[in-house]
Amino acid sequence: MKRREFLKSVAGGAVACAALPQTAEARENLKPAPQAVGMLFDSTLCIGCKACVSKCKEVNGMPPEIDGDNVTWDSARDLSGKTLNVIKAYKQGSGQTKDALTDGFAFEKRSCMHCVDPGCVSVCPVTAMRRHSVTGIVTHHPDACIGCRTCMTGCPYNVPQFEYDNPFGQIQKCQMCNQKGVSRIDNGQLTGCAEVCPTGATLFGPREELLKEAKRRLAAQAGDELSYPRGNVVKSTGDHAKSAPEYQQHIWGEKEAGGTNVMHISAIPFDKLGMPPLGERSYASISEGVQHTLYNYLALPAVALAGLTAIVRRNTSSQHDASGMDTDLGSDEGADNNGGAS
Ligand code: SF4
Ligand code: SF4
Ligand code: SF4
Repeated sequence: MKRREFLKSVAGGAVACAALPQTAEARENLKPAPQAVGMLFDSTLCIGCKACVSKCKEVNGMPPEIDGDNVTWDSARDLSGKTLNVIKAYKQGSGQTKDALTDGFAFEKRSCMHCVDPGCVSVCPVTAMRRHSVTGIVTHHPDACIGCRTCMTGCPYNVPQFEYDNPFGQIQKCQMCNQKGVSRIDNGQLTGCAEVCPTGATLFGPREELLKEAKRRLAAQAGDELSYPRGNVVKSTGDHAKSAPEYQQHIWGEKEAGGTNVMHISAIPFDKLGMPPLGERSYASISEGVQHTLYNYLALPAVALAGLTAIVRRNTSSQHDASGMDTDLGSDEGADNNGGAS
């Protein structure tokens, strides 16, 4: 192989790369699925009863987690391979007043947010995480999963958990009670947590209707009498009336990281409730933009390699023609190494 030919092949690769479409910028966020369903969690309605945690375990066949020597009840502190839904407490100062920032307390639900543009789906190398094209529900498919745990790194909420204490451990996360074998949504039922929530703090329904309901609540003045549905936002299992708290003017999940189908509202700022600082761009749109950029750069050596392969093939065939011996190819390489072929 001659140096001039090598340089020509590399130059050809560079030209080919320059001709490739440049995708260094992030792609657009995905839009909500056409009939997206989700949940609205209203922290001001949550009384911390954890009925939703128990029901979640029952529906999903999860064992209790006992935290502490003298504890005899399920006391999971966080999401894990055995817990898909957990209620956490905020407490400040004396912690005496519900929904007060100072000397107050509040509750916050942690479970999969069912992102509109899910990072877990984007990073999974074998499409074991999937977003339903109609409902937007994000499910995990153990039959496809290879246990690489990449999804755990792609989630801004640290939701997917691995069963570390199980030799045949799997990734676990809330699947909105609609995974194969449970299928509550497909069967017209509520999610387990929304079904049992006594106050409507966890409310199921179409994402658009939940968003409207959240805006209705945030538009109320503190002290206004408001009617709150339970179970399903469009088919309440029994409204109850209560005076509106002073809500934060923020619907978590309307826009964060591309939006979520599970949204939260609260009287306490979300950073105090442990929500991560997120912009409006989805993780998936950013990471896929970076991946495509890398592919573009990798195209340069790939095209150069293709050029080299073509040269080697051509030389191989001419050497075969001249001598019939593969070993004669070495002489060309030797000439390049000695720098005498240019
Ligand atoms: S069932 Fe409802 S009120 Fe009880 S902890 Fe869960 S979300 Fe809160
Ligand atoms: S919260 Fe995490 S696990 Fe749930 S859909 Fe979003 S990225 Fe996936
Ligand atoms: S939707 Fe189902 S799996 Fe998800 S937190 Fe509620 S009960 Fe648990």
